[in-house]
Amino acid sequence: MSPAAVADWVEREHDLILPTYPQRTIAFSRGSGTVLVDVDGREYLDFLTGLAVTALGHAHPAVTAAVSQQAARLVHTSNLYVTVPMLDLAQRLRAITGWADSKAFFCQDGATANEAALKLARRHGKKQHPGKVRVVTLEGSFHGRTFATLEATGQSARHAPFEPLLGFVDTVPHDDPAAMTAAVTDDHCAVLLEVVQGEGGVRPVPTAVLDAARVACDEHGALLIVDEVQTGIGRTGEWFAHQHAPVLPDVISVAKALANGLPIGAILARGEATRALEPGDHATTFGGNPVTCAAALATLDVIASEGVLDNVREREAQLRKIAGSIDGIGGVRGMGLLLGLELDEPLARVIADSCCDAGLLVNAVAPDVLRIAPPLTVSAAECEQAMEIVADAVEQGRP
Ligand SMILES: *Cc1c(COP(=O)(O)O)cnc(C)c1O
Repeated sequence: MSPAAVADWVEREHDLILPTYPQRTIAFSRGSGTVLVDVDGREYLDFLTGLAVTALGHAHPAVTAAVSQQAARLVHTSNLYVTVPMLDLAQRLRAITGWADSKAFFCQDGATANEAALKLARRHGKKQHPGKVRVVTLEGSFHGRTFATLEATGQSARHAPFEPLLGFVDTVPHDDPAAMTAAVTDDHCAVLLEVVQGEGGVRPVPTAVLDAARVACDEHGALLIVDEVQTGIGRTGEWFAHQHAPVLPDVISVAKALANGLPIGAILARGEATRALEPGDHATTFGGNPVTCAAALATLDVIASEGVLDNVREREAQLRKIAGSIDGIGGVRGMGLLLGLELDEPLARVIADSCCDAGLLVNAVAPDVLRIAPPLTVSAAECEQAMEIVADAVEQGRP
C-alpha cells in the first residue's frame, strides 16, 4: 500500500472507530517471529509483542497449524456442552502450576479473568458472613477496564471519569508490608495483586508484601488472587511470576500470552477456592472456545519443549548487561523479559517515538521508564540490534 493509502486508513479510523485510543499512525499487515511489517513494507523489531501477548513471536507455525486444524474441525458449541481442547488445556495449566487439585474457568481476556476471580472471591466470602465482600489491592496496579476491575486498578486518574464506582476496594502502597497487614480485615474476601506491576511501570512488588498478603489472607479467611495476566506463561523466566517469590496464591488469572495472540483468559483456583462457585453463578458464551484453547495448548507445548524459559533467562541477562552500560539509563527493573529501563530524564515517550522511527517497538510505562517485552523466543542478535537503537535514541534525547 502507498503512503497515500495509509493516510486514507487514518481518515477511515477517524470516521469509523470510537476515539478510545490515541491517534494511531502505523498499520501493520503481517509479522514473523520478532519482525512486524507495516502496510508500506517497512520492518520493525517488535519488543512490545502487542503488550506481552505474542510470546512466541508472530505467526508461529505450531500455533498457526493448531488454529487451522481446530477451525476446520469445530469452532464453537457454547458451554451447554464440553469440548476436549478445553479439558486438555485445564490439565496442562494444572501441570504448570503444580497444583494437584486446580480447577479452571475460561473466558476472553484479562479483565474477564479478573472479574471472574473477584466474583469467586465474593462468593467465597459471603459463604462465611454476608459483609465479607471487600478487596485489598495495590496502588499503581492494573487489573482491567470493566467496572469491577477498573475499581481494583489502583490508579485514581482512571477512576475519575467513571465515578461512582462500586465501592468495595481498599488500596495500599505496593511496597509496604505493614500497610498490607493492617488493611486486611474479616470484611475482606480477597487481596488482588500483581507480582510485577506491568502497566504500573514495570514495578516489582517486594516479596515481603506478597508474604504479608498471604499471612493476612490466612488469618482472615480471605483469598489471595495473583494477577498473572501480563507476567504469566513464561514472561518472567518461570511459568508464573509467583513461582519466583515463592508465594502460594489461592487463585491466579492469566490471559495475554496464553494463546499467543488469540483472545483468551482463564482463572485457576486451588483448595477451598475451587468450591466457591456453584452452577449458574458465572458464565460466558465463548469461554473455553476450542480454537483459542487449541492455540493455547500449542503455545504451552512450544514453551515447554523448545527451551524457551532458558532463553528468557539468558536474554534477560544479556539485555540487563547491555542496558546497564548505556549512558542515560540509570537502572533496569522487572523480571525475565518484562523489563523497565530507568532513564535519567523523564523522556520515555520521546525516546519510544525515536525508537519507533528507527524501527524498534517499545513503549513508555512511566515518564522515565521504557518497557521492553520482546518475544520469549527473541535471539541474541535481535537483542543486540534493539539495544543499539535504544542507545542511539537515549543519546539523541539527552539534553
Ligand atoms: C493487560 C492486563 C489486564 C487486562 O487485560 P485485558 O485483556 O486488556 O482485559 C489485567 N491485568 C494485568 C496485569 C494486565 O497487564
